[in-house]
Amino acid sequence: MRRNKNLERRIADERIILLMKLAEKEAISNPERARRYVTMARRIAMKYRRKMPSEYRRRFCKKCFSFFTTSNCRIRIRRGIKSILCLNCGWRRRIPYRR
Ligand SMILES: [Zn+2]
Repeated sequence: MRRNKNLERRIADERIILLMKLAEKEAISNPERARRYVTMARRIAMKYRRKMPSEYRRRFCKKCFSFFTTSNCRIRIRRGIKSILCLNCGWRRRIPYRR
């Protein structure tokens, strides 16, 4: 049977958004579970070559997959560079920042 690629992509996108929403909801009360949701969403994104939705792309650590809350990361903006430090694994990410 022919695979319906468009349908697969749509389902993948929906699942990614659903998982990231769940992660967001559990990020504070249950960070471990939130991390599992992020990992699952990433796996689906890779398998179907989908992009992480832009509203979630910078909301989790790319190394340990912790979903960022106000207490598990530190954000600094200096000289046009936004740096996000993950307090869970110590990974730092720098993003050029435009005013
Ligand atoms: Zn991390």
